[in-house]
Amino acid sequence: MIEISGVSRRYGEVHAVSGVDLRVHAGEVFGLIGHNGAGKSTLFKMMLGLVAASTGEIRIAGESVTGKRFREVRRGIGYLPENVVFHDNLTGLETLAFFARLKGVPRTQCAPLLERVGLAEAGGRRVRGYSKGMRQRLGFAQALLGEPRLLFLDEPTTGLDPEGIREFYEILRALRAGGTTIVLTSHILSEIQERVGRLAIMKSGRVQACGTVQALREAAHLPLRFELELAEGDEH
Ligand code: ATP
Repeated sequence: MIEISGVSRRYGEVHAVSGVDLRVHAGEVFGLIGHNGAGKSTLFKMMLGLVAASTGEIRIAGESVTGKRFREVRRGIGYLPENVVFHDNLTGLETLAFFARLKGVPRTQCAPLLERVGLAEAGGRRVRGYSKGMRQRLGFAQALLGEPRLLFLDEPTTGLDPEGIREFYEILRALRAGGTTIVLTSHILSEIQERVGRLAIMKSGRVQACGTVQALREAAHLPLRFELELAEGDEH
């Protein structure tokens, strides 16, 4: 579904992403894990045409997205950015209806989606009064509009309480069962290790290792200390 070949992105002297090669298979739940600043969001944005790659090529469903813009790439793709910005004066339902109009998706999808992410009752209230977790749920609903075949979720559980996190992964499981390909980022290994098929560990813009959690554990080249590093990262 996704083929990333030799992709790099520099911001001046900062090598945000360096020579990344990755494959994400159709129907897979794929995790990108790494500390703050590892390059996860930049890689996401390049896959979506929000940021241009300095070098390399990205193909989605066989089509090159290199040099394309978000509006050309986004059909069939749902995206939950790391920081979603909403108009505080709109209600949850109005917000979703606004995104539905932008995406050319029928408004009738909005209410069922709000219910799916646990915002059925809050849908009539202004977003101004939403907690961080509720905003995250609304962002997730926005990403699910149009029943995308591919979902990019950037740190999707930020702000969710344990129950919210459990519900979120339940929805992911149902989506995966329906054949949706899901790529999500996190810096919490313990949270995603049981929930992704494979994961790539990013550090300083590079992919250090990629595979199933079991394979990464068993691989002699994956230092145990990496887990410790990630565990330390969890505390930030
Ligand atoms: P986080 O977990 O904090 O979101 P990340 O792994 O998603 O981190 P990126 O946001 O991709 O990492 O950032 C990778 C590097 O690129 C960082 O050093 C960051 O400061 C830098 N960077 C990202 N976006 C820009 C930008 N627009 N201008 C300059 N530097 C940037």
